[in-house]
Amino acid sequence: MIDLPSVENRFTTHFPADPSSENIPRQVSGAVWSQVQPTPVSSPHLVAYSADLAKELGLSAQVIQSQEFLEMMSGNRLADGAIPYSMNYGGHQFGNWAGQLGDGRAISIGELRGEDGSSWTLQLKGAGPTPYSRTADGRAVLRSSMREFVCSEAMHHLGIATTRALTLVSTGESVLRDMFYDGNPAPEPGAIVCRVSPSFLRFGNFEIHAARRETDLLKQLADWVITEHYPHLWSPSQDTYLAWLQEVCDRTIRSVVDWMRVGFVHGVLNTDNMSVLGLTIDYGPYGWIDHFTPDWTPNTTDAMGRRYVFGNQPKVAHWNLAQFARSLIPLIGDPAPLQEIIHDVPNRYGSLYRDMMASKLGFRRFESPQDEELLKELFELFEAHETDMTNFFRALAYVDPSSPTVAALTDVWYGEPSSVHLSSMDSWLQKWADRIVAEDQSPDERIAAMNRANPAFIPRNWLVQEAIDQAHEGLYDRIHQLMDLIRSPYDAPDAVEGGIADLAKWKRPEWARHKPGSSMLSCSS
Ligand code: AMP
Ligand code: MG
Repeated sequence: MIDLPSVENRFTTHFPADPSSENIPRQVSGAVWSQVQPTPVSSPHLVAYSADLAKELGLSAQVIQSQEFLEMMSGNRLADGAIPYSMNYGGHQFGNWAGQLGDGRAISIGELRGEDGSSWTLQLKGAGPTPYSRTADGRAVLRSSMREFVCSEAMHHLGIATTRALTLVSTGESVLRDMFYDGNPAPEPGAIVCRVSPSFLRFGNFEIHAARRETDLLKQLADWVITEHYPHLWSPSQDTYLAWLQEVCDRTIRSVVDWMRVGFVHGVLNTDNMSVLGLTIDYGPYGWIDHFTPDWTPNTTDAMGRRYVFGNQPKVAHWNLAQFARSLIPLIGDPAPLQEIIHDVPNRYGSLYRDMMASKLGFRRFESPQDEELLKELFELFEAHETDMTNFFRALAYVDPSSPTVAALTDVWYGEPSSVHLSSMDSWLQKWADRIVAEDQSPDERIAAMNRANPAFIPRNWLVQEAIDQAHEGLYDRIHQLMDLIRSPYDAPDAVEGGIADLAKWKRPEWARHKPGSSMLSCSS
């Protein structure tokens, strides 16, 4: 018999509860959370878990692999005294105010103390209907759960701020989904991911109370987030809220710069999918750029509007931050100082973005307009012939600046580039090499620095889709292999356990170019 870990209920005991406990879709006003019991599932199976996160949470393999813990991770059983709840939030979806959204299928089941004393909320996504489910079923399918599980942990190992994922459980029950919204719903295997984060609060949690003029709740929420998660900013004055907004902006900017660095496209950057801790949150129809295309989105739901394409993420984050700032007006009274902070976001982003691109190119920083010009020319070359973003930057580190040649760039193109293109690339490499020589850094130092900015391994869409296809057959080797590979994304590929010879292995195969799941995803999950 294994004892379940003991949990705390700090969030739910701090805030007033929704007085109703009726679990039917409804508007919840005057409360930030509602008590909800997870709906049990028939035959849960532990598909995978994150050993790294388990360790951080002080959970032994024996606990994680126990039947009792599996019951907890599937919503069939709660830790002693746990108060399960869903959160009330609203949001702007695709640019429009959508009113109340809330945790429609996510149920938080308590907070754990990590090894270092920090507090982590455990949340089951797909644990059944809640008052916020609107017309949906509260469940999640295995494919989207696998994608969220793998990507959360991959982002963590890439050093990008993110919510985490502890367990992936298949429920043994099927869920009906119309994957392409084309009138063909089909049953799919269901699953539950246990997400873990210091907080799951989103911009939308603030927007809903501002929209409803629930200023007391708004202030209580802001004070909680600041004292819990930004304690260095706390003082009982209005300036605290301004300093806080500034830091939310900065953390969000940092995350977006990181997404642009590794080629991550979130896919649905609605304000309800923006964390007030600046974490990457809500992995839905996200994707990774294979060949560099600023206007690519994996999300078929956004195929017409193209609001959330790769290159638009900085602008969208700015717009979302402006909505968040607007929700804080009742706390400050005067919008002007909030606007000033928002106004400065593009500058602050630009400066971090330039530093990040400099590091990808092997420069300490951009020194002159010529450096910017060099980057612009590179993007033009990417546009002229399909070039794998990850493999290109990884290979660039190993181009010898004393004799730069395009021959050193293997496995970076899709299709054969023309001789004209190759010679343009050669000239670009020469300019790059001249600039590198001026850096005054040993080749080893520079290569190591470039490798820290340029991952060798990202869980590309097609790789995860292969793991999903296999899981649909009841086989889970691929997901376990992926979970190993994501742990050291910046190591040379052949240093990764499992013996990966070269980057060619990860380049998107031609069959995956238009394959559903690999390049086309909808919000149906
Ligand atoms: P998303 O697009 O995943 O960020 O979800 C937007 C809103 O829809 C959130 O309020 C979700 O909780 C809700 N939602 C998405 N899928 C479901 C589902 N299957 N059941 C209940 N609510 C859902
Ligand atoms: Mg969401």
